[in-house]
Amino acid sequence: MAKYSGADCRLCRREGCKLFLKGDRCVTGKCALDRRPTIPGQHGSANARKKQATGYVLQLREKQKVKRAYGLLEKQFKEYYFEGKRQKGATGEVMLSLLERRLDNVVYRLGFGVSRAQCRQIVNHGHITVNGKKVDIPSYQVKVGDVVAIRESDRKIELFKDLKDNKTMAPKWLKLDSSKQSGEVIAIPDRSDIDLNIAEHLIIELYSR
Ligand code: SF4
Repeated sequence: MAKYSGADCRLCRREGCKLFLKGDRCVTGKCALDRRPTIPGQHGSANARKKQATGYVLQLREKQKVKRAYGLLEKQFKEYYFEGKRQKGATGEVMLSLLERRLDNVVYRLGFGVSRAQCRQIVNHGHITVNGKKVDIPSYQVKVGDVVAIRESDRKIELFKDLKDNKTMAPKWLKLDSSKQSGEVIAIPDRSDIDLNIAEHLIIELYSR
């Protein structure tokens, strides 16, 4: 399946929840979902959302919501389910923890970029180091003790020059040091660290069919 490249806000309206794909816009009055909380297209209406919410469709929508929030293709996303199943613990919770530990998500959670999509580019373009070494793989899994930082030689470029005043409220499993434009992984993220409203059991049910 080709990667979705259309209007991000339509995805939020389709899923009926904020996926935070557009940076600052998502937290202002300009958010398209706040302004128009209906499904996109001529048949979109408040009732249409209620009508569709049963069984398989509900499971599918939940999976699409999480997949789109993290900006993944189906094949990539399903790998997290398989890995969640392979590891010890509740499959859904492990799957979400693995998604959170992606390097592009960590960069986003530390406030180094305004959206996960932008943070993926930041990683792809080689602006990020882990423990002092450049890592340009967005799916890289961080572990406890890792220090994720903007590459020293890049700290003065326009994109990052304001980050020394970065006041992002990082989740409790990350310790942000704005003065060094870095953050340390101090714990493995657990279920309570996931800030999207997700019913992961629906995703597990879908993939278990
Ligand atoms: Fe658009 Fe962001 Fe609002 Fe989603 S949360 S509809 S991406 S502005």
